[in-house]
Amino acid sequence: MGYRHLMMAAVVAMMLASGAVPPEPGIADSLARERAAAIRDLRYELELQLPASRGAAISGRVIARFSLAALGRVVFDFSRPQDAVRGVRLDGRDVAYELINGHLVIASASAGSHYVAIDFVAGDEALNRSEEFLYTLFVPARARLTFPCFDQPDLKARYSLTLTVPAGWQAVSNGAAIRTADAARGPASTTLVFAETQPLPTYLFAFAAGRFSVETAERGGRQFRLFHRETDQAKVARNRDAIFDLHASALAWLEEYTGIPYAFGKFDIVAIPAFTFSGMEHAGAIFYNASSLLLDESATQNQVLDRANVIAHETSHMWFGDLVTMRWFNDVWMKEVFANFMADKIVNPSFPTVNHELRFLLAHYPSAYSVDRTDGTNAIRQVLGNLDEAGQMYGPIIYDKAPVVMRQLEMIMGAGPFRDGLREYLKTYQFGNATWLDLVRTLDAKTPRDLAAWSRAWVEERGRPAITTRVRMAGDRVASITLASRDPMGRGLVWPQQLAVTVGYDAGSSVAASAKVDVKTVPVDLRTATASLPGVKGRERPRFVLPNGGGLGYGLFVLDDVSRAYLVDHVEQLPDPLTRGSAWVTLWDNLLEGAVAPPALFDTALRALPFETDEQNVQRMLGYAARIYWRFLPAAQRQARAARLESVLRDGLARAATQSQKSAWFNAYRDTVMSPEGLAWLERVWRRQEPVPGLTLAEPDEITLAMELAVREVPRWKEILDAQLARTQNPDRRDRLAFVMPALSADPAERERSFERFTLLENRRREVWVQDSLQYLNHPLRAAQGARFVQPALGMLREIQRTGDIFFPTRWMERTLWGYRSAEVADTVRAFLARQKDYPERLRWTILSTADELFRAARVP
Ligand SMILES: [Zn+2]
Repeated sequence: MGYRHLMMAAVVAMMLASGAVPPEPGIADSLARERAAAIRDLRYELELQLPASRGAAISGRVIARFSLAALGRVVFDFSRPQDAVRGVRLDGRDVAYELINGHLVIASASAGSHYVAIDFVAGDEALNRSEEFLYTLFVPARARLTFPCFDQPDLKARYSLTLTVPAGWQAVSNGAAIRTADAARGPASTTLVFAETQPLPTYLFAFAAGRFSVETAERGGRQFRLFHRETDQAKVARNRDAIFDLHASALAWLEEYTGIPYAFGKFDIVAIPAFTFSGMEHAGAIFYNASSLLLDESATQNQVLDRANVIAHETSHMWFGDLVTMRWFNDVWMKEVFANFMADKIVNPSFPTVNHELRFLLAHYPSAYSVDRTDGTNAIRQVLGNLDEAGQMYGPIIYDKAPVVMRQLEMIMGAGPFRDGLREYLKTYQFGNATWLDLVRTLDAKTPRDLAAWSRAWVEERGRPAITTRVRMAGDRVASITLASRDPMGRGLVWPQQLAVTVGYDAGSSVAASAKVDVKTVPVDLRTATASLPGVKGRERPRFVLPNGGGLGYGLFVLDDVSRAYLVDHVEQLPDPLTRGSAWVTLWDNLLEGAVAPPALFDTALRALPFETDEQNVQRMLGYAARIYWRFLPAAQRQARAARLESVLRDGLARAATQSQKSAWFNAYRDTVMSPEGLAWLERVWRRQEPVPGLTLAEPDEITLAMELAVREVPRWKEILDAQLARTQNPDRRDRLAFVMPALSADPAERERSFERFTLLENRRREVWVQDSLQYLNHPLRAAQGARFVQPALGMLREIQRTGDIFFPTRWMERTLWGYRSAEVADTVRAFLARQKDYPERLRWTILSTADELFRAARVP
């Protein structure tokens, strides 16, 4: 501590002596503004030597060409030790430089054009190196771990990349490979020169290299390539056309909607095993998690839709994010919201049998609420002082709340003016950067509403309204039904919004209608804190009022006692799938508020499941049932309901008409089964002694099955895991299983050791593997021992944030806490937070939001 302090003091003294304040660690907003004002016409020529061995160092050279607006210092970002810099030349001459706080600083350069050449050794942190391949993932500001650059989104540059790779490797980057140069390392290697790119921010610059197979196709006169490492040829054959078709139709749709042609030339798709995101929108070379593109035969309808959605999402980014980029990562939500918003518009027409209103509701609302109902929630638009904290910008608030908000904005403006505003925005800022305020200004000109005022509650502040209903009677007739919105955080905020309120009455006496209830959905414009429902005065008292029955409104909808009781007893009788889905989302919220007893809602789910006709609702209800089962039922109550749950799930599996539906039921069964007979059946399925009629299990399904059997400690659990490892064909999946296996052991000491591995960064590099391990270490069936991992996992969170990818802190905490419901574990989390006085605020939010369900479950007697 003291030593570091002295070092810092010495460095500061030296910098002060030279007349400049040293740039702070990370990338501060102030540094970014200084550089954006000074640097023009930026180009990088980057050469890297990629060795065959994962352990060997990667050497490189970058030449940065730019012009300076005025005399001043030049601050590169390069988070590497001193000896990683081999030489720095300014305009062809050696120049003095300083490496400080992750920056390479040249004290002074004159106004005008310059080029800086730097020889360096790249760091591995952002290169995801495996034995046979590697790939970059530079978002949000990790390019500086690999090469010296200006690692901020508003210094867009043209990149010319040259890669020398081992012979037999493929390589892909943003630009097309234009030629093969003479191999720099002789016949054992190949040197590939890539075309100069359009202007891109560092976070969108990317390459991947290694042993990949390449599929090619032409669609609408455009060439597409798919890079992948899948060994199952039938799987590739089954998926390839769909992958190309989905990209081609998304591109065509976006060109039409935006009125701007695709701007980045060629189009490549890279499917990466265990990629940490579902996709990353590198211009001209989108990276995906292989498993979200290459689906198994057992894929559910949701997985098929999710694939279409992620493809449309990443393709939308070619305009929203890549063509026009946020100035700073506090507006990263803008590119995400438009990608999601466009994805929904693009995907819907291709799935005419899917209820898309319901899909929008189920895809976005529960996830947005999972954060927005908690004390750890954040505003859509946040303050961000340093890109070191940019990872904390991401999460359900920008991915799921923002699309809800944007749909409200489109409703306020009208679809036509909204699109015209977006076209103007894209055209004005193309190949450049813009902020949310720039967009609001553009849109505001196209509507009479005051968008700046509207934006405040929805975009600039955190949380959601609590909306209550009140039914006033005059005798046996309704006098009024009013909705009242209040701010649970006590700021007095009002969230102006359009609602579609559903009111239910007894159906008439006709026999056919007797099972159903008569429902009416009416629009209500909740511009201020209260509004009343039109058309209800003088009618009989409704059976229920569901303020979000039409799936539009956003908030905590606190049901009145009559409505709540009715929906718990009759939800399956609502005639419309969207209203049923909305009722489920609302009932879940009411359960978390303590207004519905968990066993009651569990029983409702089991009663209603056989009647549910929409697969999306079935999946949601199965999900809620499983969460109540593991999280909200004490072990004795769980035991008492296990047999009934298993029988409902087996019946559902038998009844399901499609492979997709069967998968949903089978997975729910696999994840909850406890009875010896049920486990024996699963084991026979895993041993391929008994098929599941109508359902084909692929290798990943069998791996999960083996893991679920092991965590239940079936008698031959060890043999099952070993056999699964031996019969796993795909090398990437085999490595992953081998890594996770110790976390599944019945031996607590081995599980302890498996957790202790994570103290070493080297053992955390494959984050998906770590998440799988945590999932089982903290499984509810292992809660008695697992609870001891909670404290150290909390203690490591800062380190996890510092060294991991952007979603890792949240996932680390989710997988750590998911299996617990006890007051003791809740207290462990609270005590940890109470002890940490100077804990980073956003990381505190991460803990509060991921612990929220635990806190609520711990309050259930
Ligand atoms: Zn995105």
